[in-house]
Amino acid sequence: MKYPRLKNFINGNFIESASDRKLEVISPGDGTLLTEVPLSDAADLNDAVSGAKAAFQHWSKTPIKERVQVFFKYKYLLEQHLQELAALCSEENGKTIGESIAEIEKCIELTEFACSLPQLVTGELLEVSRGVECRTEHVPLGVVASIVPFNFPSMVPNWTIPNAIALGNCMIIKPSEKVPISCGRLAELLTEAGLPPGVFSIVHGDEEIVGGICDHPGIEAVSFVGSTRVARLVYQRATSNYKRCLALGGAKNHLMVMPDAIPGMTAQNVAASMSGCAGQRCMAASAMVGVGNVDHIIEKICEEARKIIPGENLGAVINKASKERIEQYITEAEEQGAKVLVDGRGTKVEGKENGTYVGPTVIDRVTPGMSVAKEEIFGPVISIMRTNTVDEALAIENANPYGNAASVFTQNGGVARYIIERASAGMVGVNVGVPVPREPFSFGGWNESKFGVGDITGKSSIEFWTKLKKSTIKWNAEAGVNWMS
Ligand code: NAD
Repeated sequence: MKYPRLKNFINGNFIESASDRKLEVISPGDGTLLTEVPLSDAADLNDAVSGAKAAFQHWSKTPIKERVQVFFKYKYLLEQHLQELAALCSEENGKTIGESIAEIEKCIELTEFACSLPQLVTGELLEVSRGVECRTEHVPLGVVASIVPFNFPSMVPNWTIPNAIALGNCMIIKPSEKVPISCGRLAELLTEAGLPPGVFSIVHGDEEIVGGICDHPGIEAVSFVGSTRVARLVYQRATSNYKRCLALGGAKNHLMVMPDAIPGMTAQNVAASMSGCAGQRCMAASAMVGVGNVDHIIEKICEEARKIIPGENLGAVINKASKERIEQYITEAEEQGAKVLVDGRGTKVEGKENGTYVGPTVIDRVTPGMSVAKEEIFGPVISIMRTNTVDEALAIENANPYGNAASVFTQNGGVARYIIERASAGMVGVNVGVPVPREPFSFGGWNESKFGVGDITGKSSIEFWTKLKKSTIKWNAEAGVNWMS
């Protein structure tokens, strides 16, 4: 085992879990046993909540301009430790080192946004009648929880940590049991940056502890990022306990390619979107709808896909079960009549025989009823459908129950606008394969890609992590009773 068994992080200390349930953490890149992660129980969670509640007394009263000083230092530490954090991310998740560097750079951008929060939460004040003013303030909620998936071991935690904490909350995070190591390093950096004990805690575990988080009376709000199946469960359970909840789910993102799209640029974007992070991004292109004759573009997409080499510029998928599931999707589509133009099945990387790799895969002549057209594959696979009109392409996109992202590739502004207006997705792109809004714009999908109100990052997250206090204040000494008395 490369690293010692992981511990929870509670009250500023790494401590053993009370539970003896545990899981092995295996590197997808080469099959190395990295560590063991404890599957914590209710006693661990109770300790974390008690510590966080105690810390909230002081942290919530610390002025926000003082609170963000921690995040200025944290940003600096992320920059200083960028290479080391990226290496850890690649090791536990299997993505390429370039992708991990980009992930840590995104953590830095997210932290920069949190540093700007004092500018955004000044509240409002108005003299509503002579001598009487109304004022609003953003007040932190208390102890909040963040439950995160495997595909971004550092970035998704940093969607929530800096904003929630800078806004005065104390956070308990439940890392993915598949990639639990990076969060511990983030805890060390937050501590080095000056975050007081109890303000940030880690409780490792699986679905049992997620249930505990949803039920715990000491936790005010739960944010979740993961599959739609679990997002639904978490949203239902947390809100049935009267907690605030924002649960981001899975995705099936459509790229609509018009015949006038610039072939080279479009092909590069499609190939990069479907294969980046081995297709394990909730913003990955998973389905492409070619409108009219786009054969010349599909040819180029295949050329680009063939340049993507597993173990070099393509990382591993998370585990053996995932590799088998992805390959099964490809086989099923082929059996149903689709044409596999570039086939990533059976990929082995020399020297990394225990790694779990799937090569880039381009499937053409997919029909809307096939599983590869409808379901989230979460692997480096693009399923291509064909239509004659833009409206038919939109009908396919609109019929999908998810709604994270959609993109159009065209040189026609009118067509682009038509699609922006009609795509049923929270994040839409024009000539962009991965339309992730950058800070300060907020991240969040629609439909079954998100349950709850607001978005998880950017300005829209402020409403989720705070409650509004409205004060009406009279400073003049005039007597007389009116409706404000
Ligand atoms: P997952 O839903 O399996 O797990 C997410 C978290 O939920 C983990 O911490 C896990 O321990 C916990 N969990 C798993 N099963 C549970 C259960 N039955 N009850 C309670 N908790 C449970 O997701 P994953 O496989 O880690 O991540 C991949 C998924 O996440 C994909 O569907 C992807 O699209 C989605 N994702 C979405 C976004 C977004 O912004 N919408 C971002 C990243 C990932």
